Parts: sequence; C-alpha cells; structure tokens
Amino acid sequence: MIEDKNPLRTPVEQLGEFGLIDHITKSFEIQNTSTVKAIGDDAAVVKFENHTVVTTDMLVEGIHFDLSYVPLKHLGYKSIMVNLSDVYAMNAVATQVTVSIAISNRFPVEAVEELYEGIQLACSNYGVDLIGGDTTASTSGLIISVTALGEQVKDKIVYRSGAKDTDLLVVSGDVGAAYMGLQILEREKAVFKANPNSQPDIEAYSYLIERQLKPEARRDIPKLLEELDVQPTSMIDVSDGLSSEIIHLCKQSGVGMKLYEDKLPLDPTVISSCEEFNLDSTTVALSGGEDYELLFTIKQEDFPKIKANPSLSIIGHVLPQSDGIHLVTRGGEQIAIKAMGWNSFEN
Ligand code: ADP
Ligand code: MG
Repeated sequence: MIEDKNPLRTPVEQLGEFGLIDHITKSFEIQNTSTVKAIGDDAAVVKFENHTVVTTDMLVEGIHFDLSYVPLKHLGYKSIMVNLSDVYAMNAVATQVTVSIAISNRFPVEAVEELYEGIQLACSNYGVDLIGGDTTASTSGLIISVTALGEQVKDKIVYRSGAKDTDLLVVSGDVGAAYMGLQILEREKAVFKANPNSQPDIEAYSYLIERQLKPEARRDIPKLLEELDVQPTSMIDVSDGLSSEIIHLCKQSGVGMKLYEDKLPLDPTVISSCEEFNLDSTTVALSGGEDYELLFTIKQEDFPKIKANPSLSIIGHVLPQSDGIHLVTRGGEQIAIKAMGWNSFEN
C-alpha cells in the first residue's frame, strides 16, 4: 500500500556496521549543553544540573508495528515519541536519546536511512540529542529500542503515586483517535490484499491515521503547567489506554476515582468512525491506547488556572480508595473500570 519511494537497494554489508552508523548519524546536530560527548566513543557523556530521568521502550515488528502500512520514517519518529512521552509524564525536559536497532538483511541501507530520517526529525523537533546506540543483525524482523534521558529539579518531578482525595483528574488533547487510525489502516490493508489495484480511501480519516502513524508527545504540557503555576500531584502518559492508566494512578496513589463519560474528549472523527465500525466510542476512548496524551491530577484549588484551557479536559476526580474506580455514564449509571488496555502479551 505504501509505495517504495526509494528504489535503490544498497546492501548493509557494502558499508559495514561502522560505515552504516557513520552514514546514518553524521547529519545529527547536538542541541543541549548537557550533552558532553555524543556518538563516537565507547560511551556518551552527559552532565545534568538536576535530577535525571531515564526511560526505555522497545518496538518489535509484528508486535508493535506492521511494516506493510507503517512507513519507516514514521516508525522512526514514533519510536522517539513513545519515549519522550514517558519523560514528559515525569514532568521533565527530554534532552538525549540512544537508539538501538536490530535489522534483518532484507533491509537495505536506504531503509535504515528512512528510519533515521524520522528519528532525526523527531530529535530536531523536540530538541533532543542522539548520543548513541547499538546496531546488530536480526534473524526475524526489525527491533528498535530507544532510551531517553531528561532532567528536572527534584521537587518538580511528578510520580504516579501522588494523587490525593478530592484532586481533579485531567487529560490533555483527545483520546481514542490512534486506535481508530489503526482500525482504518487494518481495513485498508485487508482491502488491498483482496484487490491490489484498489485505491486507499483514507482522506476522511487523515486525523485518525496521523494520530496512529505520527503521534506527537506532549512536550508542551509540562511547559504549560509551569506557566500556569500548576504542579500536578500525579501524572502518567496514555500509552495503553485511559482506563489502564487511571488504574495505575489509583493503585500507586492508593486512591479511588470517578470518571465522567460525558467529559471524555473525543474528536468528531472518532465518533463518526466508531459508528461506521460499530464500536462504542467510550470503550474506544477508555481502551484504545497509543494516544500519548498526558493524564494527571491537580489540586482543586488549581481549577481556575486550567479551566479555560483548550488543551486540557477535566474528566473526573479523586476519591478515597474504598470508593473504587468508576465510570459515570451519560445516563448516570456507575460502572467499575477494569483494565482493558492494549497488552502485547495477549496477541
Ligand atoms: P561499541 O563496540 O563500543 O559498542 P559501536 O561500534 O557499537 O561501539 O558504536 C560506535 C558508536 O556509534 C557509539 O558511540 C555508539 O553509541 C554509536 N552507535 C552504534 N549504533 C548506533 C545506532 N544504531 N544509532 C546511533 N548510534 C549508534
Ligand atoms: Mg555497540
């Protein structure tokens, strides 16, 4: 479905591992003073003034992505986003990444270049430095492992464990779109398999597909909260689905929560595509995942500071743990929230 834009196929052996690394990393620029030494020595060197935040996420072909409809450039971009999202979820500033790849020999140099174009775009858009990685062969499919570093002063780091009774529950952006984007891509893949001459019909769904293929980590939210002088009491990023993240916050904070169905921020195209696919939009919003939005709690007294902000929706509030975790439906019914998030071990 995605056309091979690059008909050139230079085998990786032609450059060798060192030549390949040199080739793909030479145009990366260093943007942070905390980067003392980037690629090229046995290890990179960084120096932070503040506390350091470290996170790793691995993407595996066939488990996390399908190369038949994910362009490599998008995959490179997304592999950085999923990691930066975790740094921002600590309320930290992302500064460096390392990228390790395992590639099968069916991958020509041009494919690796495309992957790194996406990685480079992500690094330059988000002001992070590529400071190292590892490159190895793989007998089955592509694996990308990214580690991201970031920093923040000790008292501003936000953990999952700080939510308190009466706090408000807030989510950035909207949820459910990335999941619906995946449904569209899967459908088009099936149509294409049945009829390779069919033209993909995806215009109307461009927002959904973009949310799936080219997510943007919410770097702006920690900044916005700082400007608004709001320190979240707990925070997590929405990677596995809202309900699963809510349960994490509740468990680690030792609290309960109430979430309101009518407050869930849904893009209109999520609602229309859910109708088309015969899916319940609330279920999609709660269980879809890969939204890479930030979910956090704030003190009630901070409500006036955030209430008018179009990037933030107040979707619920914190209760004592004994009250449990419930969704209040539009009809006023209370439904216990169970983790229904995406789990790669279930596939
Ligand atoms: P070593 O044998 O010491 O591990 P490598 O030859 O693996 O060294 O790597 C040489 C340099 O290139 C190191 O700085 C390493 O971090 C960097 N590097 C290796 N692979 C990658 C990659 N896929 N992306 C970015 N940097 C890489
Ligand atoms: Mg190495």
